[in-house]
Order: sequence, then structure tokens, then C-alpha cells
Amino acid sequence: MKFGTKAIHAGVAPDPSTGAIMTPIFQTSTYVQKSPGDHLGYEYSRTHNPTRTALQQSLAALENGKHGICFSSGLGAIDSVVKLFNPGDEIISTNDLYGGTYRLFTKVFERYGIKFHFVSMADLEALSSLVNARTKMVWVETPTNPMMNIIDLKAMARFSKKHGLLLAVDNTFASPYLQNPLDLGADIVMHSVTKYLGGHSDVVMGALVVNDDDLAARLVFLQNACGATPGPQDCFLVLRGIKTLHLRMERHCQNGRVIAEFLKTHPKVAKVYWPGFEDHPNHQVAKDQMRDFGGMISFTLVGNKLSDANVVMENFHLFALAESLGGVESLCGHPATMTHASIPKEEREKVGLVDSLIRLSVGVEDVEDLKKDLADALSKI
Ligand SMILES: *Cc1c(COP(=O)(O)O)cnc(C)c1O
Repeated sequence: MKFGTKAIHAGVAPDPSTGAIMTPIFQTSTYVQKSPGDHLGYEYSRTHNPTRTALQQSLAALENGKHGICFSSGLGAIDSVVKLFNPGDEIISTNDLYGGTYRLFTKVFERYGIKFHFVSMADLEALSSLVNARTKMVWVETPTNPMMNIIDLKAMARFSKKHGLLLAVDNTFASPYLQNPLDLGADIVMHSVTKYLGGHSDVVMGALVVNDDDLAARLVFLQNACGATPGPQDCFLVLRGIKTLHLRMERHCQNGRVIAEFLKTHPKVAKVYWPGFEDHPNHQVAKDQMRDFGGMISFTLVGNKLSDANVVMENFHLFALAESLGGVESLCGHPATMTHASIPKEEREKVGLVDSLIRLSVGVEDVEDLKKDLADALSKI
């Protein structure tokens, strides 16, 4: 089945009791048993819920994986991945990381004796020197937030296999429409479903997709044992969102290209970060491992003044200033004061995350209106 057909059909079937074409919202916590242990496969909704089952199957199909496992947030999903490990184990993570993931790793799991190394994934020699008998997993995100760097997933998979490590990929920014890490050799794909998969800024949810049966069983155990599971109403909303994932992503990519090119020639814009540009340092890797380049764009202003960035963001009418991304509506964010404020200024600036950097999540509105919104806001500085 091709992607657009899977988005609409995979994992879902008409409800056998009524014929309802859409998976019902099974708003129930428990299920009646005929006699102890004699039931229809459902006992308690933390463990299983039919609406969640349909969504998990749909997500697995979209990532070309065998097992989908849903959580009440993206961080809930990552939390269960790290709980696969024991005190003393080590994880190598990209240094260009979602702030919440960094916080979970350093402020929570380091207290439980798990050791994290935060490094650039570009230098495989340097990476090799970190590997020892306690190293268990490599964690990467690509494209990265907000600098839009691309990590070569096939190279990371070769590295991980060679050293006997699991490779986990946070695929939130790309969505399964643009990139399927399992096909490139990853062991675990993670999504903040909150973003493109949900797609309408109305749900917080996370998911993991894996192929290996044993790994899936361990993660399903953690899903139930730790209990960060999503409710059926949210699962329904995401199932609904997924039905248009391919259509939305097509438009996000088209609009993203127009906006990136518009910004690149704008006299008040200093630099535009978008992997679709031929002069992006990882353009070729992006071309090889992604189907298109997406609608996430970051840019800086000539003169690099925080006050100018504020003027631009205050004068947008369509790009709403808000955390998050991947919804149908366009959003903007200011990484230096919002998502990445906890990183010291000198550290931030080393990777290009300067005060005037603005991140856009380009929505699926009419692109002429988005261009005009940008032009008007930039004219105010
Ligand atoms: C939002 C996000 C997360 C965290 O997901 P939540 O659903 O907010 O818990 C993780 N990684 C990336 C790349 C994200 O954008």
C-alpha cells in the first residue's frame, strides 16, 4: 500500500458490532469478563483500549514497522525508552536536541545513574571513542530543532550496528511522510504525535514504533507498568488527523519552499536555515533520506538584534507566537527565549542559535497570505 492509502486505511476497520466506518471512541476504563480471565482481549484501558489499538496499528503502518506503542506525550514515550536501561548504562545523544528531551535526560535520568554523552553526530571517530561496554543506545533527532541540521541516519545505523547499540530516532520534525528511520536501519522511531501526526494543535501525545518483537514487548510492558497512556478521545482525534497527513505534508512542503526562498532574498534577513537549499551543508543527505524538505524554517535578521526579532514577531497576524509546531496553522517561535532559554548564551551561539533567530512552522494556509504577513512584519524594523 502507498503512503496516502495507508494514512486512510491502515489499522482501522469498520466496527464489527455496528458497522460504524470510523473507529468509535471507546470511552471506558474497564471491560466485563464472562468468568475470571475469560474476556475479549480487553481488561483495563491502561493496558489496552480498542481506539488506541487502531491508532497504534496505523502508526506502525506509517513507519513501516510492526509495533506501534502510544503514550500520553512525546516525553512520556522517551521516558519509557530510557527505562529500558539500568543505572551505569550510557547513552550517546546528539547535542542538537529538543529542550524537553535534554531536560528529561539530564534532570531526571542522570539522577538514576544513567550517563549521557551529548555530542555532534558529524564526527564518527569522536563518537567511537565514547563507546564502552556500558554504552547501550544512540539517540538522534533529524532535522534538528531549531538549526535544521540533518543527521545521516544510514551512517548512524551502521555505526550503531557495528558497536551493538540500539539506534533511536526522534522523527517528529520529519513525520513519517517525509522520513522512515526503520527503513534506514534504526531500531526505535519516536514521535511527538502532538506535532504533524495530530496536525491540528488539539492533542498532546507520543508514540514509539519498532520492528523487533522482544524490544516491543519490553516497551509495551513499560507502557502499562509506568502508565503514561493516552485516552481514547485523543486517540480518535489523532486517527482523524492522520487521514490527511499526506495532504497536509504536501502543502507544508510546498509552502515551506516558497517561504524559505522568499526569506532568502529578503534584504532584512541574514540567514535562512532550511534543508531544501542546495547550499545547506547536509542537503544531499536530506535529499537521500527524506521525500521532501518540510515546512520548518529558521532565519536570522541582519544586525542580529533581539529587539528587531521581537518587533517582527509582535507584528505577525497569521504566524502565531506559540510553542509547538506541525499544526495546520502557521506558528512562530523564538528559540533563544522560549524553547532553548535554559542553554547558556555562549553555548547557544556556538551552534548559530543567536538572539534574532526566529523559527517558523509554516502551515497550510494560502502561501500568498503567509508571504504578505512576513513582508509586512519585516517592514516594521
Ligand atoms: C515536542 C517535541 C517533543 C516532546 O513531545 P511532547 O508531545 O511535547 O511531550 C520531543 N521531540 C521533539 C522534536 C519535539 O518537537
